[in-house]
Amino acid sequence: MTDADFSLAIHGGCGVLPRATIPAAFAADVRAALAASLDAGATILRAGGSALDAVEAAVVVMEDAAVFNAGHGAAFNAAGGHELDAAIMDGRTLEAGAIAGARAMRNPIRVCRAIMASGDFLLLQGDGADDFARQKGFAIVPQDYYGTEQRRQMLAEMKALAAQGATARANEAQKHGTVGAVARDRHGNLAAATSTGGYTNKPVGRIGDSPIIGAGTYANNATCAISATGKGEFFIRKVLAHEISARIAYLGQDLDKAARDLVLVELPEWKSGAGLVGVDRSGNVTMPYNTEGMYRGVVTSRRPAQVAIFED
Ligand code: ASP
Repeated sequence: MTDADFSLAIHGGCGVLPRATIPAAFAADVRAALAASLDAGATILRAGGSALDAVEAAVVVMEDAAVFNAGHGAAFNAAGGHELDAAIMDGRTLEAGAIAGARAMRNPIRVCRAIMASGDFLLLQGDGADDFARQKGFAIVPQDYYGTEQRRQMLAEMKALAAQGATARANEAQKHGTVGAVARDRHGNLAAATSTGGYTNKPVGRIGDSPIIGAGTYANNATCAISATGKGEFFIRKVLAHEISARIAYLGQDLDKAARDLVLVELPEWKSGAGLVGVDRSGNVTMPYNTEGMYRGVVTSRRPAQVAIFED
């Protein structure tokens, strides 16, 4: 890698359908959406654009895709509604913007960017977040926009398992999902963005790791940019994304070692399904996950775009 190289890594969550049952048409839709997301981000990076613009553009594509748990396709909460969490962070300035428990904005990541640009508050929740989106002229949608038939089915399945006290039997896709992107641009700047519907059948008002800076989302030019996916409660307790940055900064570890230690060793000890995408200041990418698969993709100035679901 040279200073002028760029890298972009994305994920559509580690809540993947089991390999044995994933419909071929669904897998094809996932791959197409991941490819479109990579293309949106890489077009910006290739032209010398910013990591921040690239991660926002990549995440918007996945928010609009029905196959991922974010924006259109978001998980149902226990009351049969949708509450969205998201964050974006600029590794150059450590500025960030986030929303939690939003119910009406079409593209949460765009609103996060505008919150960041406001330069004052960082995290807006609930009606305040949606009102901010309205005032700024962002697209507003009815709750029906988010739900899909597949997500409704997952809510019914999770409720049935919960009634039997057997939620541990749920597969990763029934439970959760998220989308995220990290990038290093040709100017050496890093950025991270994450957007999610949280987990299926979550209590009303539950907020996950994605909008919590340092937990599910973090970017710092001095170390790395991280976007995580998996059971957010564990990531908040581990301060996962910042923990990786800290191990690079203070222990001198490389990104891959720090990320793999957490995702493949420490989080499994807590029985936490987890995955993440990360990029460091030199443009090295890591994409570890401890679940059966993770919807993911990577492209760099030296490597053509590649998408994957399982270990293939
Ligand atoms: N991290 C998300 C949350 O806990 C869910 C996921 O990534 O699967 O809200």
